[in-house]
Amino acid sequence: MSTAKTSPETEAAVESVSTDTPPAGDLREEYQALAEQVRRYRFAYYNEDAPLVSDAEFDTLYRRLEEIEALHPELVTNDSPTQEVGGEVSAAFSPVEHLQRMYSLEDVFSLDELDAWVRKTEASVATISPGARIKWLTELKIDGLAVNLLYRNGELVRAATRGDGTTGEDITHNVLTIASIPRSLKGENLPAEMEIRGEVFIPSKDFERLNVTMVEAGKAPFANPRNAAAGSLRQKDPEVTARRPLSMYVHGIGAREGLDVASQSGTYELLKQWGLPTSPYYKVLDTYEEVLKYIADNGEHRHDLSHEIDGIVVKVDDFALQRALGNTSRVPRWSVAYKYPPEEVNTKLLDIRVNVGRTGRVTPYGIMEPVLVSGSTVEMATLHNQDVVKAKGVKIGDTVVLRKAGDVIPEIVGPVVALRDGSERDFVMPTHCPSCGTELKPAKEGDVDIRCPNAKSCPSQLRERVFHLAGRGAFDIEALGWEAAIALTSPAEPENPPLTSEAGLFDLKIEDLADVRIERPKRVKGVVDGTELVPYFYTKGTAKKPSVASANTRKLFDELEKAKSQPLWRVLVALSIRHVGPTAARALAGAFGSMDAIRAATEEQLAHVDGVGPTIAAALTEWFAEDWHREIVDAWAAAGVRMADERDESMPRTLEGLTVVVTGTLPNFSRDEAKEAILTRGGKASGSVSKKTDYVVAGENAGTKLDKAESLGVRVIDEDGFRTLLAEGSVPDGAGAEGAVPAAESASEEESVPEGEPA
Ligand code: NAD
Repeated sequence: MSTAKTSPETEAAVESVSTDTPPAGDLREEYQALAEQVRRYRFAYYNEDAPLVSDAEFDTLYRRLEEIEALHPELVTNDSPTQEVGGEVSAAFSPVEHLQRMYSLEDVFSLDELDAWVRKTEASVATISPGARIKWLTELKIDGLAVNLLYRNGELVRAATRGDGTTGEDITHNVLTIASIPRSLKGENLPAEMEIRGEVFIPSKDFERLNVTMVEAGKAPFANPRNAAAGSLRQKDPEVTARRPLSMYVHGIGAREGLDVASQSGTYELLKQWGLPTSPYYKVLDTYEEVLKYIADNGEHRHDLSHEIDGIVVKVDDFALQRALGNTSRVPRWSVAYKYPPEEVNTKLLDIRVNVGRTGRVTPYGIMEPVLVSGSTVEMATLHNQDVVKAKGVKIGDTVVLRKAGDVIPEIVGPVVALRDGSERDFVMPTHCPSCGTELKPAKEGDVDIRCPNAKSCPSQLRERVFHLAGRGAFDIEALGWEAAIALTSPAEPENPPLTSEAGLFDLKIEDLADVRIERPKRVKGVVDGTELVPYFYTKGTAKKPSVASANTRKLFDELEKAKSQPLWRVLVALSIRHVGPTAARALAGAFGSMDAIRAATEEQLAHVDGVGPTIAAALTEWFAEDWHREIVDAWAAAGVRMADERDESMPRTLEGLTVVVTGTLPNFSRDEAKEAILTRGGKASGSVSKKTDYVVAGENAGTKLDKAESLGVRVIDEDGFRTLLAEGSVPDGAGAEGAVPAAESASEEESVPEGEPA
């Protein structure tokens, strides 16, 4: 599998890696072109604050350069990018000589490489200082830009960017606007002179707000917090910097006079006392195992931190050992940066198309060249609505920055404007539904979203509704997935689809599906070569074996039969009524018991049901007012779908008037069963704890709801207590709480209860 999306040059660079060492002459041209390219990308990144490629792509090129140099050291010149620290000094700022050189960091991209670095460092330390035990200072690698602050007798006299490591840019006036950087240090016996190195960054929350204000002001948003921080700090006008939410954390020290400390962590503690901002996240660890744990923990929670990180920095804490290990021309030998897999890559935006959703909402989405990001291949990303497309400023044909943070949905961040060649074109929102041709309009004036009003027969909307009604929270028909929904509502053949309304779902006959064909990618020896029409519900059939209904189709019909006996709340969810998801549907089913009763209820009666309220009541009334909606209910009922919950009249209504919250995992009740048990006894099963809650049933791993119950003094019971409650309607004081896990021991929060209701 390929790594992150790469440009043709990068691909060529990767492909040319070979195990046999080619002669230097063969590689000279590639080497020179590569070095030039790295210089160009660095200039755009450091000096123009506008990267042309993703960090992942840059890192691949840089590594290839290092690889060629390792094979042929004779190619290395003094001005090779591998011998230099990143940026240059822009003529827009006065140059400043650092008292002590600023370095970059050696990067590693896998735990194997980190392992090798740790072994090498341990071996060096064993030679330099036999018997010494290394303490590892582990820190977050903040994705910002490095600054050098010069303090004389506690006063900030100068601030500079890293520049080329020897000379930086004077940004003193801009740095003075950053609230967390003190002009004067507090305390006594301050060093006569000291250079403080740190990272200037924009905290994640502030970054989001900053981009909103940029877009509101008609400006392009920043691609990421690093660019935003760099662009904000390297401003000609300090007043612009002052308006930007910049912060800093200290991560090093340069030249110093009158400061006697033995370790980097010891220095941080002193600097903190003097009022300098140190990171709350650093740790001093004794073993490599602890370092690995630090890397894993922060990798898992990297988006819960207050700022963006792109890795972890591991440093030898002891200053004497740092001095003994020394530096290369570019990086210290006592420190390494472990980089997490990239979450941002560049790819080509091939097209912007629109999707018509279940409620008719028309959503633009981007089709991209497939690219691996955060562990999965991405080729589509929603663009929400035409205003978002405009705000992001993307055009079809652009190279775009694509971001996927962990499990989060992929997002097109913005275009790489500098790579445009004029062939890009603007996206134009269609005026008519791409599925049925009906004119699109907003549901009401002023709405950003536009919709296809042809709810009944628009094939797209029908397909989405059919897919939804088979979902786990509705009829739960596993064999009716996305492709089956397409095959039923909009197949390639025949022209008349088996379903033109979900009303006909339970009247489908297996033999009616024999000729249904859908379009699938055609594979020749595993390679996609155009598309072909294939039967969906029946086998292909040969001269010897006639075409028959496939096993999955038979399963579909079995499941349809079973679906007819699902409880009423599931039938309600299956109807795609706006705002009616499982929570509201359960409340309705519990209160009315039958579809007829719900249909006959007035809007006011519906709104009075606990967990329903006026919005859902209005949506229900509106829905039942449509003839074709009532026809669906009638057709399903006629086909044998159960439209009423069988009330067990023998079930005592012990919980009438009581509100019960279930949290955590109970040994013998699933969440659904526990809810059902409460509802069938006339109680209210709520998803949140308040003063009105009568009981909280707490199982294992109960989370914040248990904390809340305790703080509000709500009665907490375990499963035994729950059984007593169901039987008796109350639990004697002091009973039924043995198994309830105390909040302090609880680990994780349970799934949040009100389920997502369709908008
Ligand atoms: P780097 O960003 O990989 O690491 C060195 C820097 O990390 C230091 O100078 C310091 O500023 C910073 N840092 C953050 N937290 C730190 C901590 N806790 N302790 C010490 N230092 C910390 O190296 P670099 O030379 O600045 O930049 C190289 C990287 O920048 C590349 O790997 C690439 O990801 C990116 N880059 C991208 C492009 C592009 O076009 N996309 C171009 C050039 C560089």
